[in-house]
Amino acid sequence: MVYKVAVVGVQGDVEEHVLSVRRAFEELGIEGKAVATRKSGVVSESDAVVIPGGESTTISKLIFREGIADEIIQLAKDGKPVMGTCAGLILLSMHGDEQVERTKTKLLGLMDIWVKRNAFGRQRESFQVNVDIKGIGPFDAVFIRAPAITKVGEYVDVLATYKDYIIAAKQENILGLSFHPELTDDTRVHEYFIKMGIDL
Ligand code: GLN
Repeated sequence: MVYKVAVVGVQGDVEEHVLSVRRAFEELGIEGKAVATRKSGVVSESDAVVIPGGESTTISKLIFREGIADEIIQLAKDGKPVMGTCAGLILLSMHGDEQVERTKTKLLGLMDIWVKRNAFGRQRESFQVNVDIKGIGPFDAVFIRAPAITKVGEYVDVLATYKDYIIAAKQENILGLSFHPELTDDTRVHEYFIKMGIDL
């Protein structure tokens, strides 16, 4: 069977994730498929799902309206890998900040983490820094108006920190990142994510 990864494609850096997943499959020597979707019915037939960056308020509205949110929640409950990057990280969380509340952004609530939207402030809207990711190693992380994790529950494994913030974490089959691994040529985060769902 061909391993299939769905990339939620309602908004944001969708195509970059599709390409990164495909390149990661090549690196791993796995036959796999990556498809972007903005309709219901695709996530539920996939082995894993990626929620890209973009604008969390917009992505939230669209995935709940289209029924994609329920499919992601079900996939997660079935133990299949779910990765959220940047805005996708916000959507994975159980605990939003005051910005999430003010905008009435509905969250998927799959990770017991507290997130802060736009945590790195206006001066540093976008930057790149080398961080050390547990299980992966040094990685050039691109941050764009990035959220951060300020606190985690007891079943969450912290994978990387930068300054006072947690920027990568994993709770069983759910992986959340503040930054954009799809914007560099390095496919190791996507390989790590694929390996969460496949015994190689
Ligand atoms: N600032 C955006 C939000 O809060 C996230 C930015 C991004 O995904 N690049 O939704």
